[in-house]
Amino acid sequence: MSDFVVYNYPTRICQGFGVRDQLAATLHAAGARRPLLVTDRLIKMLPWFEPLLASLADFDVRVFADVWGNPVETQVIAGAAAAQAHGADAIIALGGGAPVDVAKAIALMQHHPGKLFDYEDGKPDARPVDQPIAFLVALPTTAGTGSEVGRSSVISHDISKAKKIIFDPRLLPNVVLADAELTLGLPPGVTAATGLDALTHLVEAFLARGHHPMADGIALEGVRLVAGALEVAVDFARRLDDGEALSEEEEAVHRRVRAAMLDASMMGAVAFQKGLGVIHSCAHALSTVCDTHHGLANGVMLPMGLRFNLAVAPHRFLRLARAVDPGATDGAAFIDWIVELRARLGIPAGLKSLGVKPEHLDDLVAVALADGCHPSNPRVCTEADFKAIFEEAFTA
Ligand SMILES: [Zn+2]
Repeated sequence: MSDFVVYNYPTRICQGFGVRDQLAATLHAAGARRPLLVTDRLIKMLPWFEPLLASLADFDVRVFADVWGNPVETQVIAGAAAAQAHGADAIIALGGGAPVDVAKAIALMQHHPGKLFDYEDGKPDARPVDQPIAFLVALPTTAGTGSEVGRSSVISHDISKAKKIIFDPRLLPNVVLADAELTLGLPPGVTAATGLDALTHLVEAFLARGHHPMADGIALEGVRLVAGALEVAVDFARRLDDGEALSEEEEAVHRRVRAAMLDASMMGAVAFQKGLGVIHSCAHALSTVCDTHHGLANGVMLPMGLRFNLAVAPHRFLRLARAVDPGATDGAAFIDWIVELRARLGIPAGLKSLGVKPEHLDDLVAVALADGCHPSNPRVCTEADFKAIFEEAFTA
């Protein structure tokens, strides 16, 4: 274990290249015998998947790999049935935000009666989370949502695509094995979009209303990490995608920036306990109405949401600007930095190229307005404001 770092904040996080090899020991320590491994269809085909599975030869493992796209309720129902049939005594969440959120929901539904959305956060007659929840260990394979250190699971209704949040502190995975080696092969587009999701968590948490100095400190340091790592990671991903080989020194830098992004994504999820804002409400609307990738939606909407907020929190923007450039003297420079970074990452400046059409506007505004993220935004966002923000994104 000497190359690995272990800390609790409050999740037990075991971190380091190759730390996935500790999965069997982690399950043994928890007394598990029959884990259910929840992942997505693509991960099952990656070269490290079979060796990881082989490392669990001592266990009676069942793999549930029917997660794809934005996670929906039927995936949870199928996974919970698989857990029940297998008599699973532990859940392994392996993947990006979708498999991790589905795994959390499966862990909940294994011993809780009724339907998943009976447990929706804030629902007046919500059922209580009061039954046992199996041991949950998470291995993130993207640096974006940070769901592996989060207490909620976001699952969409299959037909309406409405996003429902299931929240309970016991949905926090018991152990995270944060192995940045699993992120080394991510393609450039996924690296950029998930990285911008992490950045949006950090920025929105820092700007969110309320007094939360711990979240603020984590958020600023996370922004600094992203500023130093995201673009470099995407550049390496592009070169690898083009079939280029990296020199030994470049490989070392690639590993360092991937590890920094994994840190930053977990920091984003910890920081947004404070709250999020209008950008996430817009992104949730885009995912619901147009099935847009969450990170991509955040990346596109970031400058519009920040411009909406700049006037009410100029000092906060200046601190963000200084996190990416210590010599900055003006908060607006942070928005300029985001716009330039986004262009270099190849993320579109507006919604047109994403297949989002002006006729979607009314639905987007309605879903964004009903979303639970913007009440903590530093500036109140009305229906007319959301309309203006989306209109700007159509013309950008
Ligand atoms: Zn997000």
